[in-house]
Amino acid sequence: AKAFGKGQLALYNESLQEEATQRLNLENALSEALSRDQFELYYQPIVQVSAGRAQVVGVEALLRWWQGERLVPPDQFIPVLEESGEIVAVGEWVLRQACTQVHQWHQQGLAGLRCSVNLSSRQLQEPGFAERVALILKETALPAASLVLEITESLLMRDGPETLATLRELESMGVRIALDDFGTGFSSLGYLHRYPLHIIKVDKSFITKAPTDERLKAISRAIIGLGRGLDMDVIAEGIETLEQMDFLHNEGCQFVQGYWFSRPQSALAIHPVLQRLSAT
Ligand code: C2E
Ligand code: CA
Ligand code: CA
Ligand code: CA
Repeated sequence: AKAFGKGQLALYNESLQEEATQRLNLENALSEALSRDQFELYYQPIVQVSAGRAQVVGVEALLRWWQGERLVPPDQFIPVLEESGEIVAVGEWVLRQACTQVHQWHQQGLAGLRCSVNLSSRQLQEPGFAERVALILKETALPAASLVLEITESLLMRDGPETLATLRELESMGVRIALDDFGTGFSSLGYLHRYPLHIIKVDKSFITKAPTDERLKAISRAIIGLGRGLDMDVIAEGIETLEQMDFLHNEGCQFVQGYWFSRPQSALAIHPVLQRLSAT
């Protein structure tokens, strides 16, 4: 505080107070968002590229919050939901909503389309989580084989004793588990060995510069090779350019996701995109 003059210190306190007030407003608004039906899922296609052909194989559900006319991105509110524990209820809504939507698309001719849903650690640590998932699959009539749950390395780092058992239970149901943002956290290759994981998602921070940066190129190549050796699917995230597409294709990465194919969009807006990407 020594660096501040008297007036500046008052100003500083004021802005701290303002920040606290804003945070409180955000928390209050958020805690009513679910009951007020202010959440919406956007969907982004996951595409398989082989022999020069692109075929949609799944969608990732991404949460959005409509605060009045304003669309709030998840980075701004998911941490708040995680802290309050409300992410458990919201996460369950996400799961049910995404499964319902993808089942509907199955019936509209997009058979076999996979549904990827992001999980927070609180959800996975909730007792009976695997049973909740089984119930939602039953309710929504989505086959377990069509569901992919995305978890992060940091989630595994802070896991409880139940996490491994829960993941095994999910696997035995036929649900697939993806390791998201691979390589960005405190990666431990041990995770790939210890947990039942089926998919690696290469973080976009590697992909963005991979075609021009030799070191990032080597890292991306190694992750793709790792996936192949472990018999896991590898999905590269954040593909924005043809150059990145070509690079990944040459490296033998089969699955891609990014603005190059489509930005995440509402269910209504993404449907024609999915149809176009599934046309044979
Ligand atoms: P994520 O799981 O890594 O999701 C991918 C993010 O990359 C999404 O941001 C997506 O819009 C963005 N993205 C996709 N393609 C491109 C591209 O080509 N270029 C660039 N620059 N970005 C691209 P979004 O939707 O803002 O989500 C941010 C994060 O919020 C997600 O990162 C995920 O960690 C979290 N999140 C989103 N929905 C949920 C949810 O339902 N539950 C939980 N627990 N977390 C969620
Ligand atoms: Ca994800
Ligand atoms: Ca990711
Ligand atoms: Ca991320």
